[in-house]
Amino acid sequence: MADLPPLREVIARHGLSASKALGQNFLFDAQLLDRIAAIPGDLSGKAVLEIGPGPGGLTRALLKAGARVTAIEMDKRCLPALAELAEAYPGQLDVIEGDALKLDHGELMGEPFAVVANLPYNVGTALFVRWLGGEAWPPQWTSLTLMFQQEVAQRIVAQPGGSAYGRLAVLAQWRSEAKLAMKVHRSAFTPPPKVMSAIVHVTPADMPAGVPARTLERLTEAAFGQRRKMLRQSLKGVPGAVDMLEALGIDPQRRAETVTVAEFIELARALG
Ligand code: SAM
Repeated sequence: MADLPPLREVIARHGLSASKALGQNFLFDAQLLDRIAAIPGDLSGKAVLEIGPGPGGLTRALLKAGARVTAIEMDKRCLPALAELAEAYPGQLDVIEGDALKLDHGELMGEPFAVVANLPYNVGTALFVRWLGGEAWPPQWTSLTLMFQQEVAQRIVAQPGGSAYGRLAVLAQWRSEAKLAMKVHRSAFTPPPKVMSAIVHVTPADMPAGVPARTLERLTEAAFGQRRKMLRQSLKGVPGAVDMLEALGIDPQRRAETVTVAEFIELARALG
């Protein structure tokens, strides 16, 4: 294991004051970081894509676990600190300066990879939707281990029947398994954010046969776009959907948040 200076010292030496604009809330607790890096399972020799390494706390834990890490960071100021880490773990860390939203991750990695990230809320959600969307399945990623605001994490793993259940839950659950892996108290971050956080772990599952992802996305967009309305009203804009509800025995008077993931799948398959 490399002998590294404390993270706080690295931050002071490189002048890495947390930038609000870049959503920077850093983690320093090595034990907590080791527990996060253990969520995807044994990473020894595995390819990992880390987004937003910042000063490299989580990166250290991933490297210690034996992962081969590719890290995308858009804050130039963090690059010298990350270069020191790359030197301490020769051949294990590749740092790419850039915006993760603008890069093709599959092309960058060129092999199956696990994703681990502690990202600002808006970037995390945008990437999540991208990783889980599209027709191609299974994806090149083997798992996603992502820090979110607790409220967003709860929306991802939500079951039908409550206000947390919506598009994110269906997107995360129709061909993947999504679990709440760990809650992280706001005080674990420097500076502490206003809200609590939680880590979601997602693994790809089999894709149900004959279900176009685009149709499912259109259905959930329409149904949850007007979630207080009955399905017979909210699904009016999706050709054939209201008639199909009747044919499948789904009561058109129900509201979107009562419709199970299996029922959305059935409806999308029937519409083709
Ligand atoms: N991983 C570090 C940790 O856990 O202490 C830093 C986490 S901090 C919440 C988020 C990091 O993501 C910051 O370093 C920020 O500069 C970076 N970041 C924000 N938006 C990004 C983007 N679009 N692409 C790549 N990195 C981004």
